[in-house]
Parts: sequence; structure tokens; C-alpha cells
Amino acid sequence: QTVAKKTLFVKALFDYDATLDSGLPSKGLSFKYGDIIHVTNATDPEWWQAQIVCTNSAEDEQALADSSDASGIIPSKHRVMRKERKRINQVKFNSTPKSLEFCEQLPPNETTLHAQNGKRKKKPKTKLRMTRKFPFMKSVDNVAALTESTSLEIQKEAQETTQSLNSTDQQDEWILSYEPVTKQSIDYVRPIVILGPMKDRIMEDLIQDRPQKFGVCIPHTTRAPRANEVNGAVGSYYFIGKEEMKRQKDLGLFFEVGIHNDNLYGTSINSVKAVSSKGLHCVLDVRGDAIPELQKKSMYPIAIYIKPKLAYRRGMNVLDEKIAWLQELNKRLTQDTCIKIIQQGERVSAEFADCFTASVTGDTIEEIEDAVLHVIKLHGGSEPWLPSGEVI
Ligand code: 5GP
Repeated sequence: QTVAKKTLFVKALFDYDATLDSGLPSKGLSFKYGDIIHVTNATDPEWWQAQIVCTNSAEDEQALADSSDASGIIPSKHRVMRKERKRINQVKFNSTPKSLEFCEQLPPNETTLHAQNGKRKKKPKTKLRMTRKFPFMKSVDNVAALTESTSLEIQKEAQETTQSLNSTDQQDEWILSYEPVTKQSIDYVRPIVILGPMKDRIMEDLIQDRPQKFGVCIPHTTRAPRANEVNGAVGSYYFIGKEEMKRQKDLGLFFEVGIHNDNLYGTSINSVKAVSSKGLHCVLDVRGDAIPELQKKSMYPIAIYIKPKLAYRRGMNVLDEKIAWLQELNKRLTQDTCIKIIQQGERVSAEFADCFTASVTGDTIEEIEDAVLHVIKLHGGSEPWLPSGEVI
């Protein structure tokens, strides 16, 4: 009796360096967060045969094109989950990262994003969310950051988070492994969400330098227009009554709404569609939770997380390296501001780590922008890889 080969396409939600995995029974395949992988044989419970079909960095893409055989085996979802559960349980008793099995397999240049194996809860209910979303797993970088350099407050948050995950089911929701994807046809130009350090500068540059490619949408507000503001003009708002805005919000016309000085502000799906219908990517200045909200409305943004670039210099702790990286990009930032930006980014990356299309980095603004543009080019077509909803 022959067993049919089960093949599938997945997006990797963590980095994997096969050269550091001592358990591999044959040639392994390394991959990075966001890579699209064709699993050509998923019948083995521990190891899948796989090939990378799309990778987010131009360098990796070149390496992929140059290699004659870009296939190998990768840990199955089941294996990743088991190792992570084990590690979570060890973290509960011992916060020393060196004892963590999966962690040791990860490369020293593991990114913040993938390190944080905290998966967003389906719907935030309580204040606990702030705690629960905090990164506490997966990379050497991150665990090291937690134990060596992160503030006591954040270490405590992470510990509480870990301890609050009592059941396996709860833990599993937090473990990032692979997300099944398929190539899907779409009839809109994908909006762009950029999060992480330097996001504002990058978004500004995209819009200003490439108006033929990127646009901004017009949000709604319930506040009164100021003297020079024109209803519905670019750079202004659609001015709307509070009751009407609440009604439209209840109808699901907005994918994000906020309150400022007692006034409601929000962005409607239609305002994004208006930009898209001009053939432009709508660059959205929104919080991370807008990504799943847009997805629920069948509009899949290209979501890019900017992460610090780390060289793991000897004698320098990880947080100091992140601060140095940020100050190099913006010399006016104070140490305290850098720490705030970095920690805020880590929270966002932990909570929305399953929603990003890619994470990018660079030593200069230009490098980061090139990487962002590359990702947009790769995923900005009419047949992107999107979640298939399949359960694996
Ligand atoms: P202003 O009333 O001065 O134009 O904006 C005040 C504040 O409203 C901004 O700093 C920002 O925090 C918030 N805001 C502006 N537009 C939006 C939007 O589209 N959505 C949300 N959630 N907040 C907005």
C-alpha cells in the first residue's frame, strides 16, 4: 500500500539554520522568516522534504538562483512544536537560555522578530494582552536580550507570560512554525504596513520619492475641520459626525479606529481601495492590529517589520548593539528614546509575528529602503502567496 505524498506550500514563521541542527538525519535546508517553502513530502512526522520557492532578501534570492540544488529537509511542524513546548517548559523552571534545546539550534544572528515566539491571541480581552504579547521565546538574541540587557520590568513581564501559559493548548497558540499558503489571484494593489524602528522615516521616503507607486489614503475624523482643511482632500480628513462614524464602524467599514481628545479617528477600507484603484500601494500609518483586521476584510497588506541589525560583537550586550544601530540611523535619538523605540518594536514584532510578510534590516536608511522595496516588488503582484486557511 502506497501512501500519497502530501505536498504543501508554507510560509516560515521563524529562521532555521540547518548547519546548527545536530539532529538532522540528512541534508538540511536553511530558511528565514517569511520564506515560502514548497514541502514536497510531508509524510514523515519529524522531517519534511522541502524547497524554497521565494525568499525575501535580494542576497538570499541570488544565492538560491546560484545553487543547483536548493532542496533539503526541514523540521516538520510537529517537530518544531514539540521542541518549542519543551523549551517553554524549561523556561518556566530555568530562564537560562543555554539549556534550551531548540534555541541552541538557532543561528547567532537570529532576528528579534523570530526569536519572539509569542503568538497573538485571537482577540485581546484584558490588560493581560500587553503582557502576553511580549517576546519570550525562540532566539538566542532575544533570550539573551531578556536575561542580559532588557529592563527588569520587561524581564518580569516575560516571566509572567511564560508562567501564565499553563496548558499545552495555550502554549501552542504562541508557537510559530509554518503557515500554509497558496498563490491567490487578487484584484487590488496591496496596501503597505511598515512597523518597527525607523518606520516613519521609511514610509515618508516611499511616499515622497515614488509618488507614481505609493499613495496615502484619507482618514475620517469626528473633530471639526480647521481653517485650512478641506473635506476629503489628501492630507486632510473626511469630516463626519460621531453618530454616523459609530454607525459606519459597527457596519465594519473601518479596519482601525482610535480616539484622540474625545474625537474618533479611523481609516475605512474604501479609502484604501480608492488609492488602490489608482494603481498605487496605499502606505498605511497604523498599529499592528490593523494587519489582521485588514486580512479579515480580505485585503492582505504587505506587512514589513524593520528589525535592528546585529553583529553580536564580543563584549557588547545585545541592547547596546541595538541602540548603536539606531543611533547610527538617526544621530539625534537619545539613549532613552532608543530603548523605548526598540522595546516598542519588540512588543509589536512579538504580537504580530505571524502577520508579517517579511522582516528587513540594514546598516543605513538606504539599505533598509532597498530591502523594503525588494519585498514590495516580490509580493506586490496580482498573484501573491497568501494564507490558505489549511490546517496542518
Ligand atoms: P489631528 O486632529 O491633529 O489631525 O490628529 C491628532 C491625532 O489623531 C494624530 O496625532 C493621531 O494620533 C490621530 N489620528 C490621525 N489620523 C488618524 C487615523 O486615521 N486613525 C487613528 N487611529 N488615529 C488618527
